[in-house]
Amino acid sequence: MAIQILNSKKQAKKVDFMQFLSGVPARDYVFQHTPYEEQVREAAALLKSADAVIIGAGAGLSTAAGLNYGGKRFTDNFGKFIEKYGSAAMTDMYSAGFYPFPSEEAKWGYWSKHTYLNRIEPEALPLYLMIYDLVNEKPHFVLTTNVDHQFWKAGFADGDIFATQGDYGEIQCARGCHDKVYDAEEMFLEMNRAQKDCEIPSDMVPRCPVCGGNMAMHLRCDQYFVEDEHWNEAAGRYAAFLQEHQKDKVVLLELGVGFNTPTIIRFPFEKLVRENDKWSLVRLNLREAVVPESFHKRAVGINEDICRSMEDIRKEAEKDVVW
Ligand SMILES: [Zn+2]
Repeated sequence: MAIQILNSKKQAKKVDFMQFLSGVPARDYVFQHTPYEEQVREAAALLKSADAVIIGAGAGLSTAAGLNYGGKRFTDNFGKFIEKYGSAAMTDMYSAGFYPFPSEEAKWGYWSKHTYLNRIEPEALPLYLMIYDLVNEKPHFVLTTNVDHQFWKAGFADGDIFATQGDYGEIQCARGCHDKVYDAEEMFLEMNRAQKDCEIPSDMVPRCPVCGGNMAMHLRCDQYFVEDEHWNEAAGRYAAFLQEHQKDKVVLLELGVGFNTPTIIRFPFEKLVRENDKWSLVRLNLREAVVPESFHKRAVGINEDICRSMEDIRKEAEKDVVW
């Protein structure tokens, strides 16, 4: 689910990686004992010598970059919503998205505000820009569950990104009656300006141009998620990139991917390392940077704030030394 992936710290606590330690497929997960500085050197060395880099990015990356879904950022911006719907249901922007809004006017009142704050208003965040600088000169591809459009804003080309779970800036038929998504940035700006008491005016409620039914956010939160032509093309480009670089030295740079939906990036990345001798994994994660012990030197798992580890890796990679 798209929204599930945008987990707050609170959400992350609900999924404990310890549950995976004794089971398949992560039975040999370990926190590496290598000192932090050495891990940074190893990660930088892998990235420098890579023929190509595949970035896998999850919620933890955007949280580290500044798009925090809870705490003061939530209460400062959603005070009226908390007052109206109650603080039990409105605990952060993750859970608020699941609130059973009583009407379409109320639903779009919430989502226009949420989208403005997380997709429209923020410019490219420094952490995303740093990642772009790091991989820009090598062949690269981005696989992401994030729906906030930061990779595009940071300069990555549309042809190099596969955002599997949708985008806050798009809407679709709520029943997925046709395979098309609609750019809704302008619509959200207008809704956000026009809303009163957490609701938009009735004449602004969007309707499906085909079936006349309700519209929904283009986020993978139920079986009606639309995989349109652009989505399928991006999936195809990702598959082609994997194929093209199969014999190369590839680094899978995994950023902030937890155990909420590990089957999209985390487990497939581990499978790719298992299947390709020359591929390696650099996993940056605040709390869940466990890596398969069997990967030995082909995995670096840095359990640290991603802003800090990424900055240190960048500095190390810029040093003019021969490893
Ligand atoms: Zn429809």
